[in-house]
Amino acid sequence: MEEYVDVKTLFGCDVFNDAVMQERLPKKTYKELKKTIEEGSEISLEVADVVAHEMKEWAIEKGATHYSHWFQPLTGVTAEKHDAFISAPKEDGRVILSFSGKELIKGEPDASSFPSGGLRATFEARGYTAWDCTSPAFVRHDAAGATLCIPTAFCSYTGEALDQKTPLLRSMEAINHEALRLIRLFGNTTSKRVTPCVGAEQEYFLIDKGKWLERKDLIYTGRTLFGAMPPKGQEMDDHYLGSIRQRVSAYMKEVNEECWRLGITAKTQHNEAAPAQHELAPIYEAANVAADHNQMMMRIMKKVASRHGMRCLLHEKPFAGVNGSGKHNNWSLSTDDGINLLEPGKNPHDNIQFLMVLSCVLRAVDRHADLLRESAADVGNDHRLGGNEAPPAIISVFLGEQLQDVLDQLISTGTATHSKKGARLSTGVRTIPEFMKDATDRNRTSPFAFTGNKFEFRMVGSRDSISFCNVVLNTIVAESFRDACDRLEKAENFDLAVHDLIKEYASEHQRIVFNGNGYAKEWEKEARRRGLPILPSMVDAIPALTTEKAFTLFEDFHVFTRAELESRSEIQYDIYAKAINIEAKTMLDIAAKQIVPAVIRYTTILADSANAIRNAGITETSVQMDLLMKTTGYLKQVHEAMGVLSDLVEKLPSGQNAAKRAHYCREKIVPQMEALRKPVDALEMIVDKSMWPMPSYGDLIFEV
Ligand code: ADP
Ligand code: MG
Repeated sequence: MEEYVDVKTLFGCDVFNDAVMQERLPKKTYKELKKTIEEGSEISLEVADVVAHEMKEWAIEKGATHYSHWFQPLTGVTAEKHDAFISAPKEDGRVILSFSGKELIKGEPDASSFPSGGLRATFEARGYTAWDCTSPAFVRHDAAGATLCIPTAFCSYTGEALDQKTPLLRSMEAINHEALRLIRLFGNTTSKRVTPCVGAEQEYFLIDKGKWLERKDLIYTGRTLFGAMPPKGQEMDDHYLGSIRQRVSAYMKEVNEECWRLGITAKTQHNEAAPAQHELAPIYEAANVAADHNQMMMRIMKKVASRHGMRCLLHEKPFAGVNGSGKHNNWSLSTDDGINLLEPGKNPHDNIQFLMVLSCVLRAVDRHADLLRESAADVGNDHRLGGNEAPPAIISVFLGEQLQDVLDQLISTGTATHSKKGARLSTGVRTIPEFMKDATDRNRTSPFAFTGNKFEFRMVGSRDSISFCNVVLNTIVAESFRDACDRLEKAENFDLAVHDLIKEYASEHQRIVFNGNGYAKEWEKEARRRGLPILPSMVDAIPALTTEKAFTLFEDFHVFTRAELESRSEIQYDIYAKAINIEAKTMLDIAAKQIVPAVIRYTTILADSANAIRNAGITETSVQMDLLMKTTGYLKQVHEAMGVLSDLVEKLPSGQNAAKRAHYCREKIVPQMEALRKPVDALEMIVDKSMWPMPSYGDLIFEV
């Protein structure tokens, strides 16, 4: 029998959350901390001392021996440095366990070991982690024992952000400020805060760990660099929402429980489109907490997989030819008193505030489509965006029939008088209850789709942090809110001015709206005609970070300085070049040490067989000879492609110019990697399976 899980008790049991703080902190301390969390007031060292002490006591009761400032540098993964609570032994040799307010507030990891994209050259190497009290501390249990983790922001000595979190918090401030301005104009006097809320659906693959260990490409790069398609792929659509295998179910159960312990609302789980692919979605929450939780969730997913003899692959495209993995970033704006600014209500045509917000979002996405595209740029995502599965590499907005109709009325006649309604859904079976359909169907192909009361940004890669896309969303929408407020605050007749502005924004930015099939070839042509940016590769997307438009936008709202943006662009290029270089070298290594030797052994067997048959007096060896010809032909192609690739890798420009290196990789190395892959995959279809040096796609994705 399975054990009974008491979710209510389990949920958040390892989190220093509001309930724990209320219970354990002196009233005065609690109040002051709360003020900092909610209003952003500065925290005194006195308060921090008390909080640190209670946090430590609580963590020790949970078995913690260490604490760690937990942060998100620009490497894409989280970083931490562990310190034990012990302090120097006293004379009698005993230690006391201590944790001060200062230790809680500030850490000093060496910034020079993390990417800073040039900031380091001009500034000091010193870096600080600073406690982010808006995201709760938690105790993590793993092989290292229990550790008190303190979410922090990471910045340089002179205050430049070196992490994902600092700009996210800054952008949340920006949109809060401008959204409050906007809703005040609409007569809202009660809401105190507007928070961007995010629910990130996470896709992933699970494969057998033993097989993973036999694939050097998966080990070094997270994706397969070779691999012929199995006879069956995902064409039968029998995996999506299919029944979940027991081994995977057991895994999901443990992932959920570990998430719940840490206050992560793991909610929806199902099989995804590709064999061995799955999804996990938590319930939405404030963007910064969602970003932290997503990082924690990815780590849990990997750790639990390992316990179950599996590997969790978070790469955007572990297997060519089958679906890749993404993160759907569901985004909305919510007030502290529970109003969702993206809720259209039953009659969107009458909901002027909603239409204003909506047209601001349209304007924001149209003005900064390049930035939004960049926010999903990731080396692995290059293989995903634009394949017939993920959204294309062109940003557009899906509004759906109902909203499109309302905007069309506004644009053509100046007023919107009605909203299309969802019809009754009838199945023709009397025992099945009838219900009302949504007014709008779904569109799975759109990168940025309105889905009821939120926007779903589907471009983000599965491995990537969700921080940056939300930084971009928050800031670009803040800008449109600001521009709208600047106009509306001056207007003599508010109703008239709002009406005109909605119409103006909606008509001027119509080109960003696309309700059709984003996978269709014609869409690319149409997008080009509309002048929308088409940025297929990460390398094409990075320049969006350093345009005058981007500098102005981010500096206006104090989200990034020019130097920070330049450094981030440098880091992105550098990451791209390094990743491709590793992939190319891994390919060469596998080809030289595993594939070529295996193929030579196979050709020897073919030749031996032909000779043996002839010696036995039979002249019919055409099958052996045919296979031998084919195999040696491909082997030659492999050898030649290896030579070219190896030359290109050797000539990779070294030195400071990361953009140059990235372009070289994209334009020279990537195509040659494809040229090497082709004959290898062809050989995999010919060579005796027992001699092929690694598990096939079929072995990996159908036999978990
Ligand atoms: P789907 O059908 O796309 O899976 P769901 O309704 O299940 O959509 O939601 C997917 C994600 O969107 C979940 O993480 C959910 O919590 C989140 N979500 C739902 N409503 C909102 C909202 N108003 N703002 C942000 N995220 C939301
Ligand atoms: Mg979704």
